[in-house]
Amino acid sequence: MTPQTSRTPVLAFDIGGTWFRSALVVDGDVSALERRPAISYRTSSDDVEVLQRRLLDYLVTVARDAARRLGVTRAAVSLGAAMNGRSGLVLASAPLWGPAERPFDLHSLLRSGAGDIEWVLVNDVTALAASLLVEGPRTSRKAAALTVSSGIAYRTIELETGHIPFDPEHGLQGEIGHLPVEVHWRSRPLHARCDCGVEDHLSAFCSGRGIEALLARLPEADGSSAGLGGSDLLPRFASAVKAGDARALELLDLFTRPLAQVLLYQSTLDPEVGRTVLSGGVVDALEDAYLQSLKRNMHAFGLYMISHRDPGYFDRRLALARGDGLDALRGAGVLAHRGAGATSRRGTS
Ligand SMILES: [Zn+2]
Repeated sequence: MTPQTSRTPVLAFDIGGTWFRSALVVDGDVSALERRPAISYRTSSDDVEVLQRRLLDYLVTVARDAARRLGVTRAAVSLGAAMNGRSGLVLASAPLWGPAERPFDLHSLLRSGAGDIEWVLVNDVTALAASLLVEGPRTSRKAAALTVSSGIAYRTIELETGHIPFDPEHGLQGEIGHLPVEVHWRSRPLHARCDCGVEDHLSAFCSGRGIEALLARLPEADGSSAGLGGSDLLPRFASAVKAGDARALELLDLFTRPLAQVLLYQSTLDPEVGRTVLSGGVVDALEDAYLQSLKRNMHAFGLYMISHRDPGYFDRRLALARGDGLDALRGAGVLAHRGAGATSRRGTS
């Protein structure tokens, strides 16, 4: 592996369902940002095999150009896809390829397509966790990234070593969106189906799509003074929340309660996670109101022997991400600097 200081720029990609973005990253600073609309099943009639080939072509073309013009020797890709974090195999991506499950060995194909570049390929939540390595002073042994958007996922990282623990056999960690939850709304049980097809998973109530489905369904959200019926549900709901509409705030507490419960379990089982940083489309839309609602629910549940004695406990431990949407690029850049070759072997991809 080529020794590289953190001052040498690396090329970072953030591949999501809406945009493909690339940038140069040095010490967590992002420059030369470029983006193009995502190549996905929503924007193209190509089948999944062709969409995957077009993604590969895009990455290789941009990387070769950066290598030729700028002398870049390392590139890192943050990919919005389910991946085996140990082997690096891409398993599926609902935002890019819809419900298809077509395993894709993108890492090997990148090495074949642009072999003079050292490649890192990681899941986007893993990249968000890695971005925490360049955030301020370290006050705890571990931190975590939590993303709440079309799906929900959580990832812890050890701040001293950069190690991200994964299941040694299946390469997963923190897929909390598919945990079972029990939800009540105004004292009656509420049921909802998750995108994965199973009833009453966390994502069915707390993801962007889950929230929009509930806003469309719950009579209390319809045609009220909050004006929550019709299209563009999430932005309109966010406006009602920010305007202080009482019904919208009550619904917001409903949408954060199942997640608050999961985070409370996590706080109990892994107290070394000193900081959890929230990002994703739902958090970006609702901003501080979302964080406050989540903490309100965590306080209401209570963390045994801690939160009633230490009312600032969750304030210290939960925070919003910067909100500039660049953390996945930062994190990918950090991982590229730390050395591509060892990444998946250490189980940090
Ligand atoms: Zn599910």
